[in-house]
Amino acid sequence: MNFDVIIIGGSYAGLSAAMSLGRSLRNVLIIDSSQPCNRQTPHSHNLITHDGDTPAQITSKARQQVLKYPTVKMENGTVTQVYRNGTFSVITGDGKSFTSKKLLFATGVVDIMPDIPGFAECWGISVLHCPYCHGYEVRSQPTGIIANGDMAYEYAKMISTRTNNLTLFTNGPSQLTAQQTQKLQKHNIHIYENEIKALNHKHGILSGLELTDGSMYSLNAIYARPAIKQHCSIPQLLNCEITEAGFIKVDLFQATTVEGIFAAGDNANMFRSVARPLPMATRPVRLLINNLYRIAFKSQAVFPLPPSAVQCPAQTRRNRTLQGLRGQVGAGFR
Ligand SMILES: Cc1cc2nc3c(=O)[nH]c(=O)nc-3n(C[C@H](O)[C@H](O)[C@H](O)COP(=O)(O)OP(=O)(O)OC[C@H]3O[C@@H](n4cnc5c(N)ncnc54)[C@H](O)[C@@H]3O)c2cc1C
Repeated sequence: MNFDVIIIGGSYAGLSAAMSLGRSLRNVLIIDSSQPCNRQTPHSHNLITHDGDTPAQITSKARQQVLKYPTVKMENGTVTQVYRNGTFSVITGDGKSFTSKKLLFATGVVDIMPDIPGFAECWGISVLHCPYCHGYEVRSQPTGIIANGDMAYEYAKMISTRTNNLTLFTNGPSQLTAQQTQKLQKHNIHIYENEIKALNHKHGILSGLELTDGSMYSLNAIYARPAIKQHCSIPQLLNCEITEAGFIKVDLFQATTVEGIFAAGDNANMFRSVARPLPMATRPVRLLINNLYRIAFKSQAVFPLPPSAVQCPAQTRRNRTLQGLRGQVGAGFR
C-alpha cells in the first residue's frame, strides 16, 4: 500500500503526528520498535492528566486513541532501510516493505551509558536526567551530581533549589573555574574529583557511590546527563543535516534539509520532555497536507479522500452527541 506519510517511531512524537494526520484523513503508517528512551523509568511526571503514570500507560492510551482513526495503521518493527525513487520505500528488519509520499522521523535519541558499573541499571530509576521530571520525588534527599565544567555548575545551581544535601562528582580533574568552585562551596556543595569506581544499588535503587580511592558516599539519587546519539541513523544516510549538538536540523515546520522528510521529538530538539514533542509533531502536518494537495491538484484536480474516511470514530461520536442534544432540546420543548 502507498501511504501519504510513513512515521518512523511511534512514541509520543510519532503518535501525536499520527493523530493529527489521521484527523486530516491521510493514510498514515506508524512503524515502531518500542524502545523509547524513558522505558526504564517507573513513573513519568510533569504531564497533566498523566502525572505519575508509567511511560507504557501513556503510550498505550495514545495508541488506542490514534488507531481509532481508520486511515492510521501501525506496524511493530524496526526500519532498517529507506530508498527514494520518486516515492520513499521503507523496509523493516523482518523484510516488510512499504511506500509513501512523505516521511516523518520521530525516532528519538539514545543516551549513551558511561562505563560506570551500576549506572545503566539505575538509569531512569535513581540516576536521573532531569530535576523537572523527577526532582520532586527526591527532594531534600542526599543527592549527587555526576558532571564537570560549566554543565556541572549550571546543574548544581538548578538542583540546589530542591535539596540542601548535594555533592558534585567530577569523575576526573575538575574543569570548573576558581570562581565557580568558590560559589558551589559557599553553598555547601562538596566537590570530589576522584574517578568513580561504581554505583551501589539494588534493582536500580541507589544506596551510594564509591570512588577509586575507596571512599564511599551514601546517596539516594544522582543526576547525570550522558552523551546522546540519534536512535536511528537513516536520516543522516538520507543526507539530512545534523547539527553540531547531534540533532536533526529542522525549520519551523519540522522540515529537514531534505525535501519530503520531516523530523520531530527528541531527535530534533534538545529540551526533552514527554509534553514537548506533542505540539512539535503536529507542526509538520499543515505543511504535509499543503504539499499533498498541491501534488493532488497538479495530477488529478481532486484531493483524494480514502474510502475508510467516510465514517471515522470522531464523526460517529459527534453524530451521537448531536442526536443526544437534539433529543434534549426536543424534550425541553415538550
Ligand atoms: C530516563 C528518562 C526519564 C524521563 N522521564 C520523563 C518524565 O518523567 N517526564 C517527561 O516529561 N519527560 C521525561 N523524559 C523525557 C521523555 O521521555 C522524552 O523527551 C520523550 O520520550 C521523547 O519522545 P520521542 O517520541 O521524541 O522519542 P522516544 O520516546 O524516545 O521514542 C522514539 C521511538 O522511536 C522508535 N524508533 C527509533 N528508531 C526506530 C527505527 N529505526 N524503526 C522503528 N522505530 C524506531 C523507538 O523504538 C521509540 O519507540 C525522560 C527521559 C529519560 C531518558
